[in-house]
Amino acid sequence: MKKVLTGLQPTGVITLGNYIGAIKQMVKYQDIYDSYLFVADLHSITIPQDPKELASNIKSLLALYLACGIDPKKNKIFIQSENLYHANISWLLECNTYFGELSRMTQFKDKSQKNKNFTSGLFTYPVLMAADILTYDVDYVAVGLDQKQHVELARDIAIRFNKKFGDVFKIPEPLMAQEGTKIMDLVDPTKKMSKSSTNPKGVIRLLDDVDSIRKKIMGATTDSGMEIKYDPENKPGVSNLINIYVSLSGKTIKEVEEMFKDKKYGELKKEVADLVVNEVLDIQKKYNEIINSDEINKILDDGIKYTCEIAKKKFELMKNKMGLHR
Ligand code: ATP
Ligand code: MG
Repeated sequence: MKKVLTGLQPTGVITLGNYIGAIKQMVKYQDIYDSYLFVADLHSITIPQDPKELASNIKSLLALYLACGIDPKKNKIFIQSENLYHANISWLLECNTYFGELSRMTQFKDKSQKNKNFTSGLFTYPVLMAADILTYDVDYVAVGLDQKQHVELARDIAIRFNKKFGDVFKIPEPLMAQEGTKIMDLVDPTKKMSKSSTNPKGVIRLLDDVDSIRKKIMGATTDSGMEIKYDPENKPGVSNLINIYVSLSGKTIKEVEEMFKDKKYGELKKEVADLVVNEVLDIQKKYNEIINSDEINKILDDGIKYTCEIAKKKFELMKNKMGLHR
């Protein structure tokens, strides 16, 4: 059976973008692949986090995974920082990664622009991500378009390591919802919708109350002209709404364009809002049942035991190949 992995950072309540780009995909894959899903808490601290808030975000993210339809029987679910091998493996990989490569990463360029006092963790983030992926010899990494570059880097690092030290890693491939699926900010549709965004109007979070979700969608920035047509370059706002509709309805872009051919932007917004609200209500109901139950702890105990065993073996193999032994 092929293996797939993904992780989300506990940097705030997950967005519709995370849901469509990552979680919904994992829900689909759990029936066909051996699935690994983790909370990327070590990644989240590359940007300063309030400790209390972080701990609560970790728990909330786990409950959301389950509420969104992730089946703990079909996934290895774990918290990244509980598996000590990830950071160790990351160091060994870091010493096989070039400064120049990391300097070219778009996410680093974007996030380091936002805060000039950025940490070195923000810079080496993609190597830790490579460690998360390569540790488990996964075939696929389920990511949104924004993370494709990091998966490509993980491949480059793995190929280089294998060439230098022998066959250690499987070369993974990015697995994306649809070529191009990236949900954009509702206020600024040229920017991706992000969990850590500071403008609440542009971001839909799965735990937002549904009235405010409706308002945000109705108030989404649209483009000049009247036509409802998929054209991300010239009509980023409308294209984003079409993308959301497509992702939640299972229809194709062509079908959606056809449905709204003679309609106004307002009608598209209303239909998108209905779809989103419907799905979110269901998730929130399940979330409220799970968040205060004991279920999460049991799942994490199983997940960490399983993944630590695999990671330990990979770490020992790497060390041996590199000459780090008695
Ligand atoms: P942050 O702003 O803290 O980086 P984020 O919203 O980018 O948060 P991540 O935890 O970095 O979320 O990413 C989790 C997963 O969600 C990744 O697979 C990523 O590709 C996907 N993802 C993030 N944003 C979007 C988006 N706007 N559209 C589609 N997929 C997305
Ligand atoms: Mg991100």
